[in-house]
Amino acid sequence: MQIIDMHTHSAYSGHGEGSIAQIVQRAEEIGLSTLAQTEHLVLPDGMDPLFETSMSMPTMQNYLAELRQLREELHERKSPLELVIGIEADWLDDRARELEQLCAPFEYVLGSVHFLDRRPIDDSRDLSVWDDYGHDGVWRRYFETWLDMVSAAGPITCFAHPDLPKKYGWWPSFDAHDYYLEMAHATARSGRMVEVNTAGLRKIAGEAYPGVELLREFCCAGVDCTVGSDAHSPQDLGFAIEKAYALMREAGYTKVAVARADGDRRYIAL
Ligand SMILES: [Zn+2]
Ligand SMILES: [Zn+2]
Repeated sequence: MQIIDMHTHSAYSGHGEGSIAQIVQRAEEIGLSTLAQTEHLVLPDGMDPLFETSMSMPTMQNYLAELRQLREELHERKSPLELVIGIEADWLDDRARELEQLCAPFEYVLGSVHFLDRRPIDDSRDLSVWDDYGHDGVWRRYFETWLDMVSAAGPITCFAHPDLPKKYGWWPSFDAHDYYLEMAHATARSGRMVEVNTAGLRKIAGEAYPGVELLREFCCAGVDCTVGSDAHSPQDLGFAIEKAYALMREAGYTKVAVARADGDRRYIAL
């Protein structure tokens, strides 16, 4: 069965390892049919002054140029690998118009919530929001922010890790099912995709994002689903993609959606 990876990072945004050339080389070695490189987008001034979790504007221009060059090379040697030029965009309140501009050069845009009120929820250097909001408070705000992102018009192709707050094993004490239903239906209305992200398997959470209960609701609502490793090094490329496919089958999916460089989608039967 074809293996794809639609969520990957490199050294470009300060906390990953390896060059994109190494990632592309690795993708060819392990036989991926599609690779989307999705580095972290520029953040508003002051949010990441040392560029440890995002790219600066000049770095982003280099990133784009390097990806285009690498794709040219793949075409020249008739590689079967399709490289999609992507980006992972942080959803922040009042950022819809800015995202439209910043994401314009990209073919594939992951929409992610990593910040609540501009405070990180999954950065081990500062987890103070968890103390201030409480576990249930973080979860509720996360779901609500995720719903705001999904309901907004904009350049996002695929919504990433819908239950990211479980990363450190801090689960909500309440039944989140009503949020799951709302998230699934809002995503269906948006016409965009969701991902199964296998990074959760490498974290304390011990399971992919989203878990099967939430993924089942996306499937029932008719939301297309793709998969990504969220690798931050070439070694993690393609990590547990077969497990992601198995999870999708368990949730009721019969096909994996794959974004193409031209904006279309293709499907792989599960
Ligand atoms: Zn992310
Ligand atoms: Zn990511």
